[in-house]
Amino acid sequence: MSRIPLIAGNWKMYKTEEQSEEYIQALLPRVSAIDGVEVAICVPFTDLRAMVDSARGSRVEVYAQNMHQEPEGAFTGEISAPMLSELDVRGVVLGHSERRALFGESDRALAAKVPSALAAGLVPILCVGETEQERDSDETDRKLRQQIREDLAGVPAERLADVVIAYEPIWAIGTGRVASAEQAQEAIAFIRALVGDRDRDAAERVRILYGGSVKPENAAELIALPDVDGALVGGASLEAESFAQIVAAAAA
Ligand code: PEP
Repeated sequence: MSRIPLIAGNWKMYKTEEQSEEYIQALLPRVSAIDGVEVAICVPFTDLRAMVDSARGSRVEVYAQNMHQEPEGAFTGEISAPMLSELDVRGVVLGHSERRALFGESDRALAAKVPSALAAGLVPILCVGETEQERDSDETDRKLRQQIREDLAGVPAERLADVVIAYEPIWAIGTGRVASAEQAQEAIAFIRALVGDRDRDAAERVRILYGGSVKPENAAELIALPDVDGALVGGASLEAESFAQIVAAAAA
C-alpha cells in the first residue's frame, strides 16, 4: 500500500498576515516542482483567508491549528469546523501537546473534535505522544493506546483512514532532541497496529507523521522509515527555505 507523504508546517503563534504573505511568496516557487508529496501549512486563524487565497491552485494546502467541536454556539473566542471549511481550509491540527498542556485540551474534547472536523470535510491531524517521564518509566505504549483509543472513539472504521495521526514525543518538540529512527519507527508502527485493532484496511491506509525537532538535516532519514508517512514540522517550518528542503527530502 503506498501512502502519499504529507509534510505539514505548524507555525504555532507566529506570523502576522503581512509576514505570512512574504512567506508564501517565498515558499511557492521552492515547492512547485516537487512531486509525490503533499504540503500543508498550519497557520494562525488570522492568516487563514490570505493563505488560502495566495495558495489557491498551488500544491500547498492550508490548515488551521485548532477548532471547537460544536458547529456553533455560545463559546466566546472559539472557531468551528464549518467556519474553517467555508474558508476552503483543508484541515486542522487537533490535540497538539501545547494545546493539551497549556489550554486543557482533553481526550474527551478530542473524541468530539475529530468526527466534527471530518463531518465538515476537514482533514484532522491528530497529535499524540508521550512525555519524557512517561518514556523513562516505560509508559509510552500505554499513553499512545489511551490517546488513540479515546481520541478516535467517535470515528467509524470506514473513516479512520481519513484522519492523519502525528506521533509527537513531547520531549522532542521544540527541544532539538529528535527521536532516533528506532524510536520513531517503533512508536509509529505501534500506533498503526492500534488502528489495525479497529480496522485492518484503515491501518494500511492511515497516514502517520513524525513530529519533534525535524530539520532539513534529519528529515530524510525519518521520512524514509517504513511506517513514517511524513512530518509535522514546527520551528523549521517558519523559514520557507528550510521547510522547502524538508518537503524535498520527503519526495526523494
Ligand atoms: C510541533 O510544533 O508540532 C513541532 C514538532 O515543533 P518542532 O518541530 O519545533 O519540534
